[in-house]
Amino acid sequence: MELFDLTGKVTVVTGGNRGIGLGMARGVAKAGASVAVWGRSRNYNAAAIKDLHDLGAQAVGMACDVTSEEQVEAATQATLHRFGRIDSIFANAGIGRGAQFPDLSLREWNIAMKVNAGGTMLPVRAATQVMIEQGDGGSIVVTSSVAANFGVPRLPHYAASKAAQLGLVKTLAVALAPHRIRVNAVSPGWIATEMTGPEQQRDDFNQYIRHRVPMARWGTIEEFEGIAAYLASDASSFTTGAEIRIDGGFSVQG
Ligand code: NAP
Repeated sequence: MELFDLTGKVTVVTGGNRGIGLGMARGVAKAGASVAVWGRSRNYNAAAIKDLHDLGAQAVGMACDVTSEEQVEAATQATLHRFGRIDSIFANAGIGRGAQFPDLSLREWNIAMKVNAGGTMLPVRAATQVMIEQGDGGSIVVTSSVAANFGVPRLPHYAASKAAQLGLVKTLAVALAPHRIRVNAVSPGWIATEMTGPEQQRDDFNQYIRHRVPMARWGTIEEFEGIAAYLASDASSFTTGAEIRIDGGFSVQG
């Protein structure tokens, strides 16, 4: 475990109050990190903090809408006030709402871009400023999606917003390397969370999962613990600009 040791490190997880973000928060907490969970729902935040405390971690919830520059700045300052530093950030908060094309409205397009792309840039920018000032590197992890690379018919706006994240990750990996700040993307396939709740209820969709995903099942949030500990820790000290797919083989199926 020494390789993945995060004792004394501080991690921010946006959208860490449930789903994939909570899996990531548990992963870094188990490796010893203190965790700040940023999300809008105070109830979900409180439940996640209890979950992380039960693991023995120091954890705090910040009510924060990642699309608000003011709230992101306030959450950054509150995290620094509580823990004194930020060593890694998981920009994971996101929304996924289906829409057909060409019926897709400009409003739905703008919401996807605002939350998934803008809501990634703002927390990443805030954490980067802190990391540069600290002067001892850091790790930025963005939750994108296999939808950025593989056509999913009902998700044109979502896919575009997730591809925007990948462009940001690659650019920042190069731009921030001189500061020893690593920037990587984690792209989930189909994962059982609240976001995919409606699909999980559908027989035809479960049949699709069994045929389309080589591992023939939904992924679980627990399966994001290991990648989070890896990317936040020195175990990944030469990994930057990577997109790591956690998809049960979805993206390599011929
Ligand atoms: P989820 O269970 O619905 O959780 C979404 C999280 O994002 C919640 O913690 C939510 O907290 C937070 N969030 C949403 N909008 C926010 C905002 N404006 N400000 C702050 N927090 C916000 O979804 P999930 O499946 O875990 O998804 C997590 C990430 O994985 C997303 O980026 C998603 O696109 C990506 N992803 C998911 C799948 C999948 O199959 N589940 C596949 C590929 C990629 P609050 O509501 O409290 O704000």
